[in-house]
Amino acid sequence: MNRREFLTAIGSAALLPVLPRPLLASTTFSRRRPSDAAWPSSAAWKHLHEQVGGNLISVDFPLSVAKTDPNGAAAEALWKNLKNPYFIGENPGLTETTGWVDAWATKPSVYAVAARNAQDIAAAVNFARENDLRLVVKGGGHSYQGTSNAPDSLLIWTRNMHDIEMHTAFVPQGCEGTMQPQPAVTMGSGTIGIQAYDAVTTKGGKYVQGGGCMTVGLAGLIQSGGFGSFSKHYGTAAASLLEAEVVTADGQIRIANACTNPDLFWALKGGGGSTFGVVSKLTVRLHDLPEYFGTANFTIKASSDEAFRRLIRQFVSFYAENIFNHRWGEQAHVNADNTLEISMLAWGLDHTQSKQAWQPFLDWVAQSGDAFSIKGRVNIGAIPARHFWDVQWWKENWPEVVFPNPNGNPLIGMLDYGLAHLLQPILNFDPRPDARPSNAWWKGTTGECGWFIWGYESLWMPQSLLESGQQQRLADALLAASRFNSLSLHFNKGLGGSPPDAIAASKDTATHPAVLTAFALVIVANGQDPAYPGIPGHEPEVANGRAAAERIDRCVKELRAIVPQGGAYVSESNYFEKGWQQSYWGDNYARLAEIKNKYDPDGLFIVHNGVGSEGWSADGFTKL
Ligand SMILES: Cc1cc2nc3c(=O)[nH]c(=O)nc-3n(C[C@H](O)[C@H](O)[C@H](O)COP(=O)(O)OP(=O)(O)OC[C@H]3O[C@@H](n4cnc5c(N)ncnc54)[C@H](O)[C@@H]3O)c2cc1C
Repeated sequence: MNRREFLTAIGSAALLPVLPRPLLASTTFSRRRPSDAAWPSSAAWKHLHEQVGGNLISVDFPLSVAKTDPNGAAAEALWKNLKNPYFIGENPGLTETTGWVDAWATKPSVYAVAARNAQDIAAAVNFARENDLRLVVKGGGHSYQGTSNAPDSLLIWTRNMHDIEMHTAFVPQGCEGTMQPQPAVTMGSGTIGIQAYDAVTTKGGKYVQGGGCMTVGLAGLIQSGGFGSFSKHYGTAAASLLEAEVVTADGQIRIANACTNPDLFWALKGGGGSTFGVVSKLTVRLHDLPEYFGTANFTIKASSDEAFRRLIRQFVSFYAENIFNHRWGEQAHVNADNTLEISMLAWGLDHTQSKQAWQPFLDWVAQSGDAFSIKGRVNIGAIPARHFWDVQWWKENWPEVVFPNPNGNPLIGMLDYGLAHLLQPILNFDPRPDARPSNAWWKGTTGECGWFIWGYESLWMPQSLLESGQQQRLADALLAASRFNSLSLHFNKGLGGSPPDAIAASKDTATHPAVLTAFALVIVANGQDPAYPGIPGHEPEVANGRAAAERIDRCVKELRAIVPQGGAYVSESNYFEKGWQQSYWGDNYARLAEIKNKYDPDGLFIVHNGVGSEGWSADGFTKL
């Protein structure tokens, strides 16, 4: 929308002057909606528009077309585009998840400030505070809990803030003389995973802790703790934060690091997004890159429930003895159909070393007669670490992996890496004609692109369960849980087995301390393709969704029986999490609540199940 269109649009908005605050005094405080007489005047919006350099935009809702013309070409294109995370990310009126049964469905804000810098953010924060508006912040838009959208709100949209600057010797402001200079990268808070990996790893030969998913926003990731495929080696994303530039509720642009505003700094490291302020820049520690990342992908099918019980038991002890270390991250799926699916990545192992690591387990399977069969191929290899996120490299060197035509291209030189197995495409590309060539994402995350969630829960599994006397209990619980729903063990999302420095840095964050001694985070989830209430043919399947949520709940209950005090990862957890303060943050919650009260005493930043949200109505509009 250009300036003229914008001014025309706001001309029809409420023209009433802003009422002085005393006239609004009442027993309950509620944020204003467009239908309220006290909604800001068009002149007030125009002033904000000018303050932010013409970057106040009226937010469209792309899903509207599916309601108004459900069978038209535009609606057809929309449903396809909702499987493209770049399309979603570029639309301020969309979120990566379209909704969650009985919880939320994505809704656009009224206006958005497409922020360029901290000053734009401060203008939006001041405007929201002075006019009692509901404020939301969106970076990568990947919140499962819907915390980056709210109807009738003003949105601060950071998508365009993705400048990246590398430093060879960074010292946080105010830490001169007390902290050693170190390699770091400063990123605008709208930076998403692939942009960080491209600058730091592909171009810079270093490592930065982003997410496993290429399109997750770094600001949301770090503020929720944050795990990437290799965080078992490097620690959480929050643990690498050295400094943030952040706009607090009073409109001040502050620096937060270990020496300046250290309380705010600690809270930003895992205390939850959009809770303590709006981050405009992040500076994070860089790490060394190994030569290779190892891979292991295979699926074993058990011929009976009894055989599956033996398989899980064997896997648990094999994992505890051979794979439970700082190298191996990502996932093992314990599936309801009696399959065990290994989909893992290793830090610093080449092809041969990766094979050696898994050989004893594969030998045991081979020697077990008909009880087990390998579904498909055993794919174990390695990838040059520097090229792991190098989209151009994948295209040039390994087209079979990129393009869905395995017969059309010869194998070119990659057998050395043990990649001959990768005959299925593992990357998806933004198909729009004007898309950036680097707009790629791992195929494995496509299922969650635009999905409507039925149920989602997580639980940290303590490493004590890997002790020899506990392994049987763990195996039994995994089997019992898998009778209700397939579950995934995300080994990179628990720091048990991590190097001491990674554990120490992660300990100095707000994330639930359970992460430090967990061997894995269990995630159990289910959902459907993009859907939206009220759109015929694309309605959320409410009955199926509720039934799935019930199965997920029963599945996780089996695990809670052996982990009664377990925590959950705030970003990947149940919308309906009971006792979320304790689940997400454990004993850290009291300190987080104090810091929230210090920097945002009036609750300008409220998100579902965020620190301080218990004092607000579920929609974040009314103070309780
Ligand atoms: C497909 C998919 C894959 C995922 N993979 C992983 C993974 O591998 N590892 C992992 O740890 N997590 C993963 N997640 C969870 C994800 O990391 C978190 O939901 C994260 O908070 C998303 O950040 P975002 O900026 O993309 O999302 P947003 O929805 O934009 O933001 C998330 C929260 O942070 C707030 N926020 C965003 N930017 C700012 C800012 N600049 N200042 C203050 N608050 C801000 C938002 O208001 C919101 O409350 C995944 C999620 C999805 C949907």
